[in-house]
Amino acid sequence: MIPFSPPRIDQKIIDSVTEALASGWITTGPRTKLFEKELTVFAGHGATLCVNSASAGLELMLRWYGVKEGDEVIIPAYTYAATANVVVHCGARPVMVDSGEDFNISVDEVRRAISSRTKVIMPVDLGGYPCDYDEINSLVSDNSIKSVFVAESPEQQKLGRILVLSDAAHSIGALYKGRRTGALTDITVYSFHAVKNLTTAEGGAICLNLPEPFDNEEVYKVLNVKSLHGQNKDALAKTQLGNWKYDIVEPGYKCNMTDIMASIGLVELARYTDDNLVRRRRIFDLYREAFSNDARFIVPEYFTDIKSSSFHAFLLRLRDADEVSRDAVISAIFARQVAVNVHFRPLPLMSYYMKSGYCIDDYPVAWSNYCREISLPVYYALTDEEVWIVARVVKEAVTEVMG
Ligand SMILES: *Cc1c(COP(=O)(O)O)cnc(C)c1O
Repeated sequence: MIPFSPPRIDQKIIDSVTEALASGWITTGPRTKLFEKELTVFAGHGATLCVNSASAGLELMLRWYGVKEGDEVIIPAYTYAATANVVVHCGARPVMVDSGEDFNISVDEVRRAISSRTKVIMPVDLGGYPCDYDEINSLVSDNSIKSVFVAESPEQQKLGRILVLSDAAHSIGALYKGRRTGALTDITVYSFHAVKNLTTAEGGAICLNLPEPFDNEEVYKVLNVKSLHGQNKDALAKTQLGNWKYDIVEPGYKCNMTDIMASIGLVELARYTDDNLVRRRRIFDLYREAFSNDARFIVPEYFTDIKSSSFHAFLLRLRDADEVSRDAVISAIFARQVAVNVHFRPLPLMSYYMKSGYCIDDYPVAWSNYCREISLPVYYALTDEEVWIVARVVKEAVTEVMG
């Protein structure tokens, strides 16, 4: 069986985790703080707070911005549930909009969805391919859109416009006009979940890139306290002699990263650009070679003169499939010992969101992309030979099902 996306666990990772365990410091400490500094240098934004998941990071930022009942947050319908669920947790309404042919949120649809209740836009870099960030950033700074923004919290007053909070769960290392995700919008959140490009088993990072008059270092301190029950001293600070007494300044959350997680992340980051991404790019290029001259397939966009994917998921489409035939093709692929996936079932198809009034008919592009989509295996250890096997198996399966 060729698996879909196993993590890269080798001796280097095991040694790094063992060292963290043997150091005697296993929760948030020196390794997490070092990982945060290295992530900041990596993407070139202002400051980074590591957390225990991207979901927690996104929710923490919505709460930091004061998103609450009655507010709206614009998200793509075509994403993983985390993007929408965190909005619901805050009591706000996810306003879902349709995507484009590149699977990413449509900026025209975002423009149409903006209202006086809109507080945040959360674009998602699907499969690792960056959204149209110049267009999104100029949209929120446009005077006619700024003039309908209603600032309620102190942070909203300070920014004076809709916040752009990128869900970059797939796109660490992706490039837009020469800059990495993390430095492209106000705030970017990475995921280090086990299937993501760079993993810490579970984990995430909040990249702060807020414009003046915000001080990203100051915001980092506020968030650090928020991520630890509102406690004004963390465990490491409390170990200093006589420094036991602490205060709770707000009813905060508990979503800090541990040094065990960071010990994996440090190894992963050090070999990410020159090793992991190079391999993933090669796999994408081989798939493109295998499928681009066969009219039954649509190869995803992943590299242009202004954008480069992080090569997270290879979102192949079957040109003439519908949902039923696509599902049958997937079964035929699994029968040939290859694991594939679908990224994603659009949220309006999920029972909770359906019951909440969302209807897939309102998202024709998302629906059409979903019906025809199959994500192929991409991971560091996948060999060229295995890529060719996957390509052959997918073609055989399509021939078997669709003639
Ligand atoms: C994986 C994923 C998340 C959530 O990441 P966690 O670290 O598991 O919380 C959010 N958004 C998208 C698009 C994802 O694929």
